Amino acid sequence: MIVPSSLARDAGIAVNRGIVVDDGMMTSDPNVFSLGECAEHRGICYGLVAPLYEAARVLADRLIGGTSEYHGSVVNTKLKVTGINLFSAGDFAEAPDREEIVLRDASAGIYKRLVLKDNRIIGAVLYGETADGSWFFDLMKRGIDISQMRDTLIFGQSYQGGSPLDPMAAVAALPDDAEICGCNGVCKGKITTTITGKGLTSLDDVRAHTKASASCGSCTGLVEQLMALTLGDAYNPAAVTPMCTCTELGHDDVRRLIKAKGLKTIPAVMQELEWKTSCGCAKCRPALNYYLVCDWPDEYADDYQSRYINERVHANIQKDGTYSVVPRMWGGVTNAAELRAIADVVDKFEIPMVKVTGGQRIDLLGVEKEDLPAVWADLGKAGFISGQAYAKGLRTVKTCVGSDWCRFGTQDSTGFGIRVEKFMWGSWTPAKLKLAVSGCPRNCAEATCKDIGVICVDSGFEIHFAGAAGLDIKGTDVLGLVKTEDEALEHIVALTQMYREQGRYLERIYKWAKRIGHDEIRRQIMGDPEKRRAYYDRFVFSQTFAQVDPWSERVSGKDKHEFKPMATISYNQAAE
Ligand SMILES: Cc1cc2nc3c(=O)[nH]c(=O)nc-3n(C[C@H](O)[C@H](O)[C@H](O)COP(=O)(O)OP(=O)(O)OC[C@H]3O[C@@H](n4cnc5c(N)ncnc54)[C@H](O)[C@@H]3O)c2cc1C
Ligand code: SF4
Repeated sequence: MIVPSSLARDAGIAVNRGIVVDDGMMTSDPNVFSLGECAEHRGICYGLVAPLYEAARVLADRLIGGTSEYHGSVVNTKLKVTGINLFSAGDFAEAPDREEIVLRDASAGIYKRLVLKDNRIIGAVLYGETADGSWFFDLMKRGIDISQMRDTLIFGQSYQGGSPLDPMAAVAALPDDAEICGCNGVCKGKITTTITGKGLTSLDDVRAHTKASASCGSCTGLVEQLMALTLGDAYNPAAVTPMCTCTELGHDDVRRLIKAKGLKTIPAVMQELEWKTSCGCAKCRPALNYYLVCDWPDEYADDYQSRYINERVHANIQKDGTYSVVPRMWGGVTNAAELRAIADVVDKFEIPMVKVTGGQRIDLLGVEKEDLPAVWADLGKAGFISGQAYAKGLRTVKTCVGSDWCRFGTQDSTGFGIRVEKFMWGSWTPAKLKLAVSGCPRNCAEATCKDIGVICVDSGFEIHFAGAAGLDIKGTDVLGLVKTEDEALEHIVALTQMYREQGRYLERIYKWAKRIGHDEIRRQIMGDPEKRRAYYDRFVFSQTFAQVDPWSERVSGKDKHEFKPMATISYNQAAE
C-alpha cells in the first residue's frame, strides 16, 4: 500500500487524483503496482470495498504471471446510518437524453428515483425502502432494456406483472452474477455454490465462508432467502437450541411455560418440564433462577446456590483467588468523605491495587475472601452500598458533568444519571446492563456504545439502546426522543423491563434487540403508551423486592459460611 501524494510522487510515479494505474493495476513504474482507495483507474478513484476486491483479483493474477484485466466497476452503496435506509448507484447527472421515474410517499418516508437512458437504468436512488436495490443494480449492470416493464418498474422486482410476487420467487429469478452483498462484492452464484459445495446450513457459516452479510448486514434477508432456496427443508432458521443437555426445550419455551404453568421453584420447573437430570447443571440452574426471580419477584426465593461464584459472594473473583470490591458511586460522582473512607479501607486491609474503572467507579483489587464482610462494613459506614460490578443486573450509569458545569451541556445529565441509577439499582437482568447519560451530542459519557444511553439535546432526551463495546463493538440504535426527564425515565425503565422479560439468560441487550427486532422494540416502547406503562409498573413492583443491599445483609451475618477461611490442617492432624 502506497499513500499517494508525496511518497509516490517523490518516487517519480505518475499521480493524478490518485496513483495512476493501467488495467493490470500497474503504475507508471512497471515494478510498482497500486490498489485501493489511493489508486486511480481510468480517471476514477473508488471509495468502496467491492471494486477494490475486483481490482485485487486482477492484481493477484498478474503477480502470478496471468493476464487478467480490470475494466472498472459499477458501484452501488447503502448508507449505514441508524434509522436511515438509503441506496444509491450509478449516474444522476441531468442531461437532455435522460428520463426519470420518481415515486414519492412523504408520509411513509419513501422516495425512489430511477434515471433512464435509452430504456436502460443508469442511476438509482432509494430512500426509506431499499430492498430492491440489488435488483435495480443488476438491471443497470447488465444494461437490460426495461421498456417491457416500465409501467411497474419503480414498484420493484416483486411487482413485475402487476401484482406482488412471492419474494422468494424474486430472489430465485436473480441471475447468478447478481450482487447480493454490496460491501464485500459477493454475487448470488458464489453464495449458492458455496452453500451446496461446503454443506453450509447456518447464516454464520455462510458469512464465514463467503463474507456475504458479514459487514453491514443489510443484505442478511436476501442471504437467508438464498439459503432457504438452496437448502429447501434442510434450512430451519428457527430451529430451537436446547437450553442445555438437561432438556430439549429452548430458553423461550422454558420462559413461556414458567408463566403459563405458574411454576415458581426450580424443582417445580424441572419436574413439570421433564428435565432429564435430577438437579440440572451449571448452565440451566442460573438461567432458571433468573427467570423465576424476574417472573415471580414477590414469591420466588432466590436460590443462591444456583448463582455463579461472583453473585454468591458479591465480589469479583480474581486470578489469584482474591476478590475485587467496587462500591456504588451514583452516576460516577464522589466526594472527599467517600474518598477518605476508601483510602482508610485500603490502608486497613492492605489492599494492593486501587483502580478507576471505565464505568466511573473505584475498584479495590486483591481483597481476601474472609475480609470481604469487614471491608463492606467499613464502606457501609461511609454510606456505600454494593456497586454490583459482578451482577447480571444494573451495573453503572456513567454520566458527564452536563449543564451544571459544561458550557455545552443542554440538560443536567449528572442529576438525571443519578436519578436513573437510584431507580434501577438492584435489578437483575439477563446479562449485565450498563447505562450512560451525556449532556450533549459531544457524548463525553460515551452513551452510544452502552446497553442503554441517553444523549441530552436542547429539545429533550434522545434515548439510545443496544450498543456494545466488548467482544463485539456496536453503536447504539435510537429508540426515540422524549421531552422530559420523567418521560425519559419511564421509557428507559420500560425498555429494561421488556428486556428482562424477553431476554435469554446471558443474552446482552444488543443481541436480544437483534433477535426480536429494533422496530418491534420501538413499537412497544415508543408507540404503545399502555404497554410501556405496564412494563414500567412491573419493573417498579419488582424493585420493591430487589433493592436490598447485599453487602449490608452479609455484614449482618447472611451466608456467613461463605466467608470463613478453610481450616488450616497440619500434616499430623491430616494423618490422624
Ligand atoms: C466510516 C467509513 C465507513 C465505510 N463503510 C463502507 C461500507 O459500508 N462499504 C464499503 O464498501 N466501503 C466502506 N467504506 C470505504 C472503505 O472502507 C474503503 O474504501 C476501503 O477500506 C479502502 O481500502 P484501502 O486498503 O485502499 O485503504 P485503507 O483501508 O484506508 O487502508 C490503508 C492502510 O494504510 C495505512 N497507512 C496509511 N498511511 C501509511 C503510511 N504512511 N505508511 C504505512 N501505512 C500507512 C493505514 O493505517 C491503513 O491501515 C467506509 C469508509 C469509512 C471511512
Ligand atoms: S457531553 Fe457535552 S455536556 Fe457533557 S461534558 Fe461533554 S461537551 Fe459537556
